[in-house]
Amino acid sequence: MAYRNDQRLPLDEGGGSGPVLRLSVNPRARRLSVRIDARAGEAVVIAPTERGLTQAVAFARTKSVWICERLAVRPKGRPLEPGQVISLRGRPVRLEAVPGAGAARLVEEGTVIRSGGEGEAYARRVENLLKREARDTLLERTDHHLRALGQTPVKMSIADTRSRWGSCSPHNRTIRYSWRVIMAPPPVIDYLAAHEVAHLVHADHSPAYWSVVERLVGDHRPWRKWLKDYGGALHAVGR
Ligand SMILES: [Zn+2]
Repeated sequence: MAYRNDQRLPLDEGGGSGPVLRLSVNPRARRLSVRIDARAGEAVVIAPTERGLTQAVAFARTKSVWICERLAVRPKGRPLEPGQVISLRGRPVRLEAVPGAGAARLVEEGTVIRSGGEGEAYARRVENLLKREARDTLLERTDHHLRALGQTPVKMSIADTRSRWGSCSPHNRTIRYSWRVIMAPPPVIDYLAAHEVAHLVHADHSPAYWSVVERLVGDHRPWRKWLKDYGGALHAVGR
């Protein structure tokens, strides 16, 4: 599809009422970029040439979570489907379909998830893969922080809670995480694991508690802010 300077199109390929992309050709631009025009309530996609707009639009769509958040538009959940770009450990991953009913696999050096199945079956396979990835990473980070605090192992589980990222029950020594955190960048995942493990020492959110978290991951404020700013978008994926 050829795009033109000044053209407007929906951010969401499926169309609808989400954010609008305004295409802009600027011969002096040295690379593709996206900026937010808050007054117009649009994301401006900039390319040096009209031909470059196609790639610029694709680039903007990989940043859709960021665009939605910056425009304060609640991201609309949509089912996980081929062609969609989601994030895994903070990096874009494209969803692709293959014929048959095979399980989802992470391929192309982690930039593509390929799965069989159609419709809901496809979405479920992709979600199962994301849950497996979440379990592996969270087990590893939880163990790491347990060892750092000289704590014995806990029972860990992965859930799909509506809004919470994790919970810890010190009496039963169980920790539960939302698998959705696997879409966040690694330091955010690490912070979440530290947050829950530190509750084995202090069940509250007292200054003493936060100093344990700080011992584990250093300054935790940027990661808490990240979850506050982008968490809503991660909870909307696939819903
Ligand atoms: Zn807590």
